[in-house]
Amino acid sequence: MFPTLLATPGLATFAAQMDDERQAHLTEFGEQQHPDGTGGSTRDLAADRLFQEAQAALQDGTVTWRHALEMMTAAVAAETDPAELRTLLVRTAAACAAWARDIDRRPHPMVCAHCGKPIETSESRSTWVGPLKAPGVPECASPRFHLGRPECRTASDRASDEWMREYRARTAVRTADPVVPAGQDDAS
Ligand SMILES: [Zn+2]
Repeated sequence: MFPTLLATPGLATFAAQMDDERQAHLTEFGEQQHPDGTGGSTRDLAADRLFQEAQAALQDGTVTWRHALEMMTAAVAAETDPAELRTLLVRTAAACAAWARDIDRRPHPMVCAHCGKPIETSESRSTWVGPLKAPGVPECASPRFHLGRPECRTASDRASDEWMREYRARTAVRTADPVVPAGQDDAS
């Protein structure tokens, strides 16, 4: 398999996470074979209705990702031609990647994960602390805590310890043949 150069920003991360998901499916279910189960007049009507809704929302500036994805999954459910179906599946996955990318790029709300109060921002000094961003967690959903409030800093330390425990557990499970046996690094 040749390495694939992905031109779209953020898509390599999304593809790597999709690869992890597929590996998990394969481990649990093996390669799956099912009939498509698509088509029929009810699904045609639903696809039409959701398409019209999305178009209307686009016109009046109220379109959401939910509109886009509902419209696309309804089109998938209505399609029976295997070639068209496959095209729609790729198109739906691309919309999912675009949605995930949008979430990844959202600014942090700057609300403390301990006390729930806003965290002030400053160009000249740090105002918050928090654990490292976990893989797959967007910046906007990563917990941040008040740097200047002792009880919030304590909560941040607890969150960081928790992060480290989870990180160790995850890497221990995913490393098939670890050079360092799990738990050995805790003994020092
Ligand atoms: Zn706080």
